[in-house]
Amino acid sequence: MNLHEYQGKEILSTFGVKIQKGIVVSTPQEAVAAAKKLTEETGTGWHVLKAQVHAGGRGKGGGVKLAKNLGEVESIADQIIGMQLITPQTSAEGKKVHQVLVAEDVYYPGETETSEFYISVLLNRTTGRNMIMYSTEGGMDIETVAEETPHLIFTEEIDPATGMLPFQARRVAFNLGLSGAAFKDMTKFVTALYTAYDKSDASLFEINPVLKTSDDKILAVDAKVTIDDNALFRHKDYLELRDIREENPIEVEAGALGLNYVDLDGNVGCMVNGAGLAMATMDLIKQAGGEPANFLDVGGTADAARVEAAFQIILKDPEVKAILINIFGGIVRCDRVAQGVIDAYKNMGTINVPIIVRLQGTNADIAKELIDNSGLDVQSAVEFQEAADKVQAVLA
Ligand code: GDP
Ligand code: MN
Repeated sequence: MNLHEYQGKEILSTFGVKIQKGIVVSTPQEAVAAAKKLTEETGTGWHVLKAQVHAGGRGKGGGVKLAKNLGEVESIADQIIGMQLITPQTSAEGKKVHQVLVAEDVYYPGETETSEFYISVLLNRTTGRNMIMYSTEGGMDIETVAEETPHLIFTEEIDPATGMLPFQARRVAFNLGLSGAAFKDMTKFVTALYTAYDKSDASLFEINPVLKTSDDKILAVDAKVTIDDNALFRHKDYLELRDIREENPIEVEAGALGLNYVDLDGNVGCMVNGAGLAMATMDLIKQAGGEPANFLDVGGTADAARVEAAFQIILKDPEVKAILINIFGGIVRCDRVAQGVIDAYKNMGTINVPIIVRLQGTNADIAKELIDNSGLDVQSAVEFQEAADKVQAVLA
């Protein structure tokens, strides 16, 4: 589950990580009130307004702006709230902004006095250990740093038996070129950051930039946080942080129906039972020259109701030009699935795309007969390759 910047910062703050203070709002009037409150609390005269969407690169897309007075707070909030924000990380149509974070300006008085760093915590899948990845090149796109100046990216691997050790925090501060008060503050920052990552069962905490202010304080200015979905049962309080407006609507609907669905860019809809077979099916479609429109695992019980729900979901994607049903009847009998396909088809009235069904396993022969005699525009296939070729043929 991905979080908004303001939610990530709230979690950081509860673990003692220093953050750029802010208040999230959804109208220009609220933005002005928030700015006044922040001025009372922090003494800041300037504010930065930040679009809250699940995508990075907001600054480049015009989603992060500095306001030097309350009039500017209001006009910038008015401009950002409701806009379609296009960044290097969104699709071409961008993402609609519902909320804006009004934050204290922490860069004052100027960029020469401040430094920006990059610090993230994530799992190194090769070693199976958590690691801190950090760089002196903050504020920039880290992929570009990795490509052009890889020697400026450092890592610190954490031994799960000991957790992060004090010398590791000091090494981070040292490699970032800090000294004095900033050095000490950085060791505290990175230690608290690692604790936050660990205790919240996150799979990513990416802080870009971490700022050294002109008075040598270390603060999180941005926060990109992903919580591991498999650990959410331990964090019931995080469930309300989910913002489904940021998620793919078809995926949300499929999830509610208990279907494991991932939207993809191609034009061949797939309905498969079992994740392994679903991946193999997608490979075969590609090998035959097609492109899968989705990954869809209907699970073990492919009865008529489930098959119908899966059809509905697949057909919501306007790109779909053919559907390939590939079911292995092990626990579920093929004739039951075939009947399910036929019933669902009849219930739905018209399905305007050709359907190819491959059923293998228990009672596959009866299933094929049912499909072939159904009188519907559904083709059956026996072999895997045959199924993929038939899909290609109907698309041609
Ligand atoms: P991103 O573009 O989505 O990664 O959003 P960030 O939160 O990283 O903000 C983008 C950029 O806005 C940062 O790299 C900073 O340079 C700038 N920025 C953020 N907060 C402030 C602030 O308080 N004052 C000023 N002047 N600039 C800020
Ligand atoms: Mn950022």
